[in-house]
Amino acid sequence: MSNARNKAASKALDRIKNKQRLHDADFYFEGIRNGNIGLLAEAITLVESTRYEHRKLSEDILQKCLPFAGNAIRLGITGVPGVGKSTFIESFGTFLTQKNHRVAVLAIDPSSPITKGSILGDKTRMEFLSQNKDAFIRPSPAADTLGGVARKTKESLLLCEAAGFDFIIIETVGVGQSETAVHQMTDFFLLLMLAGAGDQLQGIKRGIMEMCDALVITKADGENEKKAMRAKAEYTSALHFYPAKASGWIPKVSSCSALENKGIEEVYSIIQEHHRWFKERGLLQQLRDQQDVQWMEDNIKDLILNKYFENPDFQSKLREVRQQLSEKKITPFQAAEQMFGL
Ligand code: GDP
Repeated sequence: MSNARNKAASKALDRIKNKQRLHDADFYFEGIRNGNIGLLAEAITLVESTRYEHRKLSEDILQKCLPFAGNAIRLGITGVPGVGKSTFIESFGTFLTQKNHRVAVLAIDPSSPITKGSILGDKTRMEFLSQNKDAFIRPSPAADTLGGVARKTKESLLLCEAAGFDFIIIETVGVGQSETAVHQMTDFFLLLMLAGAGDQLQGIKRGIMEMCDALVITKADGENEKKAMRAKAEYTSALHFYPAKASGWIPKVSSCSALENKGIEEVYSIIQEHHRWFKERGLLQQLRDQQDVQWMEDNIKDLILNKYFENPDFQSKLREVRQQLSEKKITPFQAAEQMFGL
């Protein structure tokens, strides 16, 4: 973000933190539609907030923005730490802005179970792109549950679309937790891989390979170039062994060097081709409709959970059943059943 935009955004965030009076939903909506980045950032903070009145306000803003959302290409990017995600997004995002796209980058960052910290890292990433007036970069919301983070990211995505961003990149770490969530909210799923490290070593699960629409070998430069070419051939044949996609789309394999800006345009062409393929066959709308149903069901599950766990009767019953469980009077399964009088 440029300095002025940075200031506007942080002023907005301060206002929320300091509990100053918030604007009404119409004000945020107008601001977002007029491309006011400070108000967009503030609305996203409301989406991410756990306070009831913030959630309510963010829902009203979202409601107003929804008719103006949906016009972006939604791209999910994953790959293990160190594969070159932020360097790729820096280069690819800059390329996109040169093609007159406006790019928003959001992250889903499952915190590490060991360090409890973020995996994507707190270091300032994509410094160059963040200065670009046509780019908006938003780090991952603080983690409560992965599902919660993912839902907030989806809502932020819609706000970014209403603000006129026509290329949304959602980044995550390819360690098998958040990929499904990213896949559930994007049109195109891009897997970044290192050459010569082997799938096993990279910890890429079969399920992630199955989800990808394109696989790109990173760091194809210098001495690594030959290895990257070999890896490209290997992955091209390996992908044949995965089940065909219902859409008929055959995942593409490519390579690039984000440092040297090589192969970036090819990735763009693949995404464009996929977008055309899906649009022409009516598959894009179908995909997004299915994603909306899934999103609704996830929200219903959340609401049910909250409703139960916030209920005092349920809480006291829970304490009772826990006690019986700790005294080994019942099994965990029986305990769960007792909660519902079964
Ligand atoms: P992330 O953890 O996946 O976001 O990976 P980073 O983008 O931070 O990159 C990890 C390391 O790989 C850094 O030292 C980068 O400079 C290096 N790197 C990233 N892209 C390239 C590339 O295209 N070529 C080369 N040679 N190094 C790269």
